[in-house]
Amino acid sequence: MGINGNDNGFCRFDSVRIPRENLLSKYSKIDPDGIYHPPISDKMVYAGMVVNRVNMVATAAGYLSSGCTIAIRYSCVRRQTELLPGGEEPQIIDYQSQQLKLFPQLAAAYAFIFAAHNIQRRYEQIQAEVRVGDISSLQELHGLSAGMKAFSSLATNWGLEVLRLSCGGHGYSQASGFPRIYGVATALVTVEGEYSVLMLQTARYLVKCVARPASGEKLPHSIAYLTTTPESKCPAISENNVLDLKMLVNAYRHRAQRLVNDAAEKLHACLLSGKPQHLAWNESHMVLIKAADAHCHYYTVMNFVQYLQSTEMSQPLRDVLTSLCLLYALYGIENNAGDLLQDGYMSGEQISMVTNQVVALLAVIRRNAVALVDAFDIPDEMLGSILGRYDGNVYENMYKWARESPLNQTEVHHSYDTYLKPLLHKSHMEAKL
Ligand SMILES: Cc1cc2nc3c(=O)[nH]c(=O)nc-3n(C[C@H](O)[C@H](O)[C@H](O)COP(=O)(O)OP(=O)(O)OC[C@H]3O[C@@H](n4cnc5c(N)ncnc54)[C@H](O)[C@@H]3O)c2cc1C
Repeated sequence: MGINGNDNGFCRFDSVRIPRENLLSKYSKIDPDGIYHPPISDKMVYAGMVVNRVNMVATAAGYLSSGCTIAIRYSCVRRQTELLPGGEEPQIIDYQSQQLKLFPQLAAAYAFIFAAHNIQRRYEQIQAEVRVGDISSLQELHGLSAGMKAFSSLATNWGLEVLRLSCGGHGYSQASGFPRIYGVATALVTVEGEYSVLMLQTARYLVKCVARPASGEKLPHSIAYLTTTPESKCPAISENNVLDLKMLVNAYRHRAQRLVNDAAEKLHACLLSGKPQHLAWNESHMVLIKAADAHCHYYTVMNFVQYLQSTEMSQPLRDVLTSLCLLYALYGIENNAGDLLQDGYMSGEQISMVTNQVVALLAVIRRNAVALVDAFDIPDEMLGSILGRYDGNVYENMYKWARESPLNQTEVHHSYDTYLKPLLHKSHMEAKL
């Protein structure tokens, strides 16, 4: 679909001897006399893939940032439909429906950038532990990196599609840059572990953790919340309350905690009913994937909020990033309202407050939308998009691009005289007969 320099294939080996010195044996070794030294733990098999998955959260954020840059800049250039007869056509970025396509993706791009920083930092800490033989946090890192790679890549995939659609017909053009960006970014959902398979791995880790405190084992910091006493009701009583970041983090924590516990119970009930492990697991896929998704969503929101709380920045910058963080969190609640209504954690009235605040935030973010994509600092050469050019000269450059096409080097392409003209002439003669 993309990555046009190569295509996918596979190779299969049968009875092939691989010389000892050609083995990719970072963690296990074979001596010249044939003695095999296994890795310090079988969990080391995660290690190679973990680093790639950790980095792929940043890669996904990068592609989503590119998509936002193109769509937001183009939405400022493109004008459409007079609001009042005879009046000026507005920039399409001023339509609320357009802002609803653009700004949640912009907020997600920032959320994934901050999540990627944090996961990379955690990876470096755990690597340092592994180097001195401590592998106690490897499973936590595996659960986190598998889930966040899957979560961020799927969100990027959908996000790019929404952004492409937001550019109308020109979004479909090669000149938009979307075909290339989407073609590469969509691979992230599959490579280094396909979405559902990874979400199920994260879910397996989470349901195991839910069972652990019964055995007295302490849970790692990132999932310790699973066993805390949950708030039973969202305390928001006014629209201002739903703008409280702590309250929003609690709502996401509640959702994740409930869904992970529900999945663990469903799995347990299946096993108690006498189903073998593999069947019980298969019959719980839906709730397990939902649980892993809720955990990753909670992680992303919590991390965004922590970033704001722990990073020094000017007040104007803090205000702008706080609006984005609020939009990311509130829009996610809007989209997953059913999960919060299902157990009565939030009421219909509270969800309406959330919806109203999503709408209010769109207008706030509009003021800084262009600066927020300029801040990604993606040079035109790398963006590869006429719609998303920094200087905004879209139409002149689209014309230039079309003029430079090999098809447009002569007024009439030679294929017309060679092929089409005789064919048309023939059909014309036949019609006459
Ligand atoms: C661009 C690209 C580059 C790649 N580069 C490399 C590379 O350099 N080296 C390399 O080794 N590989 C590479 N791959 C392969 C990649 O790792 C695999 O394609 C990926 O892990 C998915 O495996 P699969 O293709 O076998 O999919 P499948 O396993 O056939 O998945 C197909 C469907 O089955 C579902 N499914 C499969 N198993 C389960 C399960 N247990 N439970 C529930 N659902 C399941 C999946 O969710 C999916 O919907 C690359 C792939 C791509 C697209």
